[in-house]
Amino acid sequence: MTLNLRAHHIFCVPFLDAVFPDRGEEFYKIEQMIKKVMLSDDERTHIKVTEGVDQLCKECPLCKNNRCQSTDGDEAVVRKWDALIMEELGIKTGEIFEAGEIRGVINQNAPLSVCFRCKWRKDCQMGRKTDKKMSKVQDI
Ligand code: SF4
Ligand code: SF4
Repeated sequence: MTLNLRAHHIFCVPFLDAVFPDRGEEFYKIEQMIKKVMLSDDERTHIKVTEGVDQLCKECPLCKNNRCQSTDGDEAVVRKWDALIMEELGIKTGEIFEAGEIRGVINQNAPLSVCFRCKWRKDCQMGRKTDKKMSKVQDI
């Protein structure tokens, strides 16, 4: 199986514990599948880095005319996040990874600079880690 995913879905979905009930059952199913796949060590499971709207976006009610239309960040903004994440992870559009392989890349590089200014920090395991790091720095 190969999941086609944009960079911030590869990086963020496994850490996010925010729920989006308004995005529907199919969105939830794909989101859960991404979380499961990213924890898998099955060598037959692959993740392909894609640009723009991906498998998860296609089930999202905020995706219209093949573009993200979220008020939290539309397609142009989201593409900037994806580009930053790809740069910091050292991955490129079109690359294909085994789940364990991309997990290793994430573990080596996280948290990324986007995590320190992300509005979902409180609803994300990685975001909460960055908050702890910042509070330690402030305590010094
Ligand atoms: S369409 Fe936008 S809000 Fe919906 S999953 Fe894609 S990037 Fe996220
Ligand atoms: S803090 Fe934000 S950018 Fe970092 S992993 Fe969580 S959702 Fe993604």
